[in-house]
Amino acid sequence: SKWFQQSKLDASRLRIISTKEPTQPIPNDQLVFGKTFTDHMLTIEWTKEEGWKDPVIRPYGPLTLDPASCVFHYAFELFEGLKAYRTIDDKITMFRPDMNMKRMNKSAHRICLPTFDSDELIKLTGELIKQDKHLIPSGKGYSLYIRPTLIGTTSTLGVGKPDKALLFVINSPVGPYYKTGFKAVSLEATDYATRAWPGGVGDKKLGANYAPCVLPQLQASERGYQQNLWLFGPEKYITEVGTMNVFFVFKNSKTGKKELVTAPLDGTILEGVTRDSILTLAKENLSPINWEINERYFSINEVIDRSKNDELVEAFGSGTAAVVSPIKEIGYRDYKIKVPLLPGEQSGELTKLVAKWISDIQYGNVQHGNWSKI
Ligand code: PMP
Repeated sequence: SKWFQQSKLDASRLRIISTKEPTQPIPNDQLVFGKTFTDHMLTIEWTKEEGWKDPVIRPYGPLTLDPASCVFHYAFELFEGLKAYRTIDDKITMFRPDMNMKRMNKSAHRICLPTFDSDELIKLTGELIKQDKHLIPSGKGYSLYIRPTLIGTTSTLGVGKPDKALLFVINSPVGPYYKTGFKAVSLEATDYATRAWPGGVGDKKLGANYAPCVLPQLQASERGYQQNLWLFGPEKYITEVGTMNVFFVFKNSKTGKKELVTAPLDGTILEGVTRDSILTLAKENLSPINWEINERYFSINEVIDRSKNDELVEAFGSGTAAVVSPIKEIGYRDYKIKVPLLPGEQSGELTKLVAKWISDIQYGNVQHGNWSKI
């Protein structure tokens, strides 16, 4: 009676095929984000009949796929991005991988790819990291970027639920996003293109969400901006910046009370792990000193008004790659909104503080619940 049962993802069935050509670590100053990968990758096949097959750690290398594979035609693809850190006491930890695996399963469910036990994939990713442990750079700002990916591999041009899939994980050693300290960016507010919409899939990490976002970014860059700020709807709500969540700090000029604001999770916003971490830490550290921490709608028009009233304090993007990315200016129609920075510096006060809170946890100077997973 076992023949019809699909196997669950099971880390204890892992097979390891070690590379015959181990590499040396790339010097820290030569690391480029996402360009080079560690010696091994994890691959796990899935079929409708058998479920999850044996996980395999094998030498990093090309995949062989039928050109009719549904990933190439109908974008059955989703991914994650998280990091492992070499801590100050030389342990390797992942930052909140449970959040990424939960998000990955939500993405998989939405495009009819198989879901899996998050803890098993965390264990397997841990084994992959261990295999290439010597390639994880050390030093503040250095880490291993982990890219779990899931694709549909059914060979048919018929559009339907894939009956074959491949989950793989590749790892890239990376350096700090800002090599010489923060560099604040200027943004163009985009209202002629829409990243995500109600009832859509903007809250899922599907590859299909990313390709259409590059052209508006290039267009912003042709006009002299480094990134774009995604607005939504007739109200021109601020949603995200580039591929990051976004936070603004306002100050009520009458009461002096400060407010940290980010867009609410209404299905159009990627549920960022960094965003969640910042909200949690802000509630712990800033609420007691009378800050308001709000997930609410706010528009570019509110930012313009509050800037005119000297109530715009600072703004920053948040994401795994850079942790926080300070904003210095926003272009919108004829407006050029100046976002204040600390005198002579490239960020605001809270941006700096948030970067420190998070890096202290990531590099093991500070413990925060179960956010660091060995
Ligand atoms: N928004 C988008 C569109 C993203 O691609 C990312 C990066 N994953 C984020 C926000 C930030 O999410 P996280 O903090 O989980 O990296």
